[in-house]
Amino acid sequence: MLRTIPGKQIAEGLSEEVAREAARFLAETGRAPALAVVLVGANPASEIYVRRKIAQCRKTGIASIEYRLDGATSQADLLALIARLNADPSVDGILVQLPLPGHIAATRVLDAITPGKDVDGFHPVNVGRLSTGTDGLVPCTPLGCMMLIDTVIDDLRGKHAVVIGKSNIVGKPIAMLLLERECTVTVTHIATQGLPDIARKADLIVAAAGSPGLVRGDWVKPGAVVIDVGINRIENADGTSKIVGDCAIGEMEHAAAVTPVPGGVGPMTIACLLANTIKAARSLHS
Ligand code: NAD
Repeated sequence: MLRTIPGKQIAEGLSEEVAREAARFLAETGRAPALAVVLVGANPASEIYVRRKIAQCRKTGIASIEYRLDGATSQADLLALIARLNADPSVDGILVQLPLPGHIAATRVLDAITPGKDVDGFHPVNVGRLSTGTDGLVPCTPLGCMMLIDTVIDDLRGKHAVVIGKSNIVGKPIAMLLLERECTVTVTHIATQGLPDIARKADLIVAAAGSPGLVRGDWVKPGAVVIDVGINRIENADGTSKIVGDCAIGEMEHAAAVTPVPGGVGPMTIACLLANTIKAARSLHS
């Protein structure tokens, strides 16, 4: 029988821990930990993500400060807002929702966030800390993946992990985290030759390609663990749509455990954002 990893439930547990930490921070400092959320323009998917993040902040006692800027906001104005938030001692974390409108260079904006408030873990300083195995803010989705992996694999040392996808927000950071735990890591991508054969050698597959059903049952060796990061919307014949992952979930009975989509990695991402906000608040006030 297919064993799924209950990401939603594990995320709820983490959120409860965050809520306890937020209450402790409030009792100690007289104010709640605070996350500034910056949204530029009216991208419908971004609206949904931002709404979810703010709702979770509210639930856990983290103050969220919303900045909803017009889609025509200039890069200079956005950078000026980031500078103000960096300098504001009542703001612990800064999140700029991506994608940004085309006239704004996302890297310029992300690089302007002070590393201590970079709760997405995208700043080069935090990327550098991750790659050197030193403590910093780690991107939320890879952090959540590691927590899910730890619920099903006792000791990662010496395990062969195959990561599918090499993006800066998922593939590369998860590869770094797995390497730090002494996995043997193979990072694959769109130009990789013979991916099914590479995947078949894995004890752990992390699929983050954004390609629905890419990982077939015969790519997965019996007893392997599959972490499905993909979020893909596909249209049904009747005009409705549904969200599926990067794995053909119906073909995974022989896997040791698989994350479902939805309800696997997704909820962990938001819970880890809140956990990073607490971590940022603690270290800014230590
Ligand atoms: P991306 O487009 O930046 O990167 C995709 C990577 O996958 C690239 O490195 C590309 O080379 C590789 N790739 C694409 N098709 C491939 C194929 N057929 N074979 C092998 N490699 C292939 O995407 P991303 O931002 O890293 O996101 C990846 C997926 O994860 C998307 O579906 C995204 O929606 C999802 N995602 C989920 C969460 C979450 O919270 N669950 C968070 C971030 C991203």
